[in-house]
Amino acid sequence: MMRHHRIGVLVGSCAALSVSLFGHVAAQAADCPGHPEAIGTSRTIVVDTRAHPRLGTMQYPETLPLGDHEVVLTFDDGPLPKNSNQVLQILADQCVKAIFFTIGEQAIANPEGVRKLAAAGHTIATHSQTHPLNFPRMSLEQATKQIEDGFASTRKALDDPSLVAPFFRFPGLNRSDAAEAYLASKGIQVWSTDFLADDWHHISSAKVYDLAMRRLEAMGKGILLLHDIHARTAGALPNILRDLKARGYRIVQVVPATAERPATPTDPGDWQLYPPSEQVPIAHWPKVPSFSFAETESLIAPAVSDFDSPDGKLLLSGKSMARVKRQGVPLPPEAPWPRVSELPVETAALSLPVPAQSVFEMPDEHAAFRSSPPPRVAATEESEDRGKGRRGRGGRTRVAHAHSAAKHHAHTSGGTKKPVHVASLKKRRS
Ligand SMILES: [Zn+2]
Repeated sequence: MMRHHRIGVLVGSCAALSVSLFGHVAAQAADCPGHPEAIGTSRTIVVDTRAHPRLGTMQYPETLPLGDHEVVLTFDDGPLPKNSNQVLQILADQCVKAIFFTIGEQAIANPEGVRKLAAAGHTIATHSQTHPLNFPRMSLEQATKQIEDGFASTRKALDDPSLVAPFFRFPGLNRSDAAEAYLASKGIQVWSTDFLADDWHHISSAKVYDLAMRRLEAMGKGILLLHDIHARTAGALPNILRDLKARGYRIVQVVPATAERPATPTDPGDWQLYPPSEQVPIAHWPKVPSFSFAETESLIAPAVSDFDSPDGKLLLSGKSMARVKRQGVPLPPEAPWPRVSELPVETAALSLPVPAQSVFEMPDEHAAFRSSPPPRVAATEESEDRGKGRRGRGGRTRVAHAHSAAKHHAHTSGGTKKPVHVASLKKRRS
């Protein structure tokens, strides 16, 4: 009897689960008429832009407060009718809402494209007026004009200018302290990203899809940066969305808080991809952080300096990539993780001569100090600590960012580490 009773409970549970699952599917299908296989948009996060002025772990300590397997799709550089329209159709067929970072000049040339974004319910954000890649070197006046003109041009395309969110992404992610300070003073949130799919490079749609999925799998969640102006992106998008659904990912929409629409309640730790808590089980960390750390020839991660490529600038100015001066992406002075350019000290230490025993010999009158490590050993331990500090999540040596880090060492060396890194390193050692 007991056994039958248990089976009865199991059957009952399965029935309840089935009803629940079917109910969920039915709701999703109803949300996306004619497309029962659509991934849909699972929820909308309302963000307070002043409380969280900068997002995206590629450059900043904070990112969106996403749950595991939640993804935010962002598209830059449009609208450009041909490919942007195709991207919009693909998203519509999947009932997916995304964030579009428009270029002011593109909005002027194609205001209908901006109106289509609004009509489809996407979040409209901006990406400067002409997509200059030299924000780090321009005056505050020039930067301000680029930012404000970009917003004005995009708003002008809409009947309701309030539909343009106070979200901004630097062209090529080329940030500057002055521009960031200006944006923060205006309550405009700066969006970097959590990962890329390199779709501004001349690669195939299959490669864009592959990079997007591999890097997402490495992080488990996050903001994906794409470009709706490229055919390769439009080509990759159906497969990305199909695979996202198959692998249990959920699409999240993001909108700014307003007087009528309060911010989604969150804890401060929710805004950090790797919470600085000793309570966070290590198993919750990314399983394969290969997108940030390259140790083989199969470098799937872009160096931050990859953003030297002119992106939409190519489209707007016709400049060849070769003519665009390679500057790298400026990183904030306070690095979200250690960025040091030299080779790991462990490796360097191997080539150093072994110190003679006499180095450690001390006269008897210094015997009291013998309990302290000898100077050479102390130096080595410090070096190893520094070397470990250069290691990324998963204990692999960070290589992908080394080039950029060399350029920005002067910036980052003055920055203090966040507690998260101390906690994480402690965990890694244990
Ligand atoms: Zn761009």
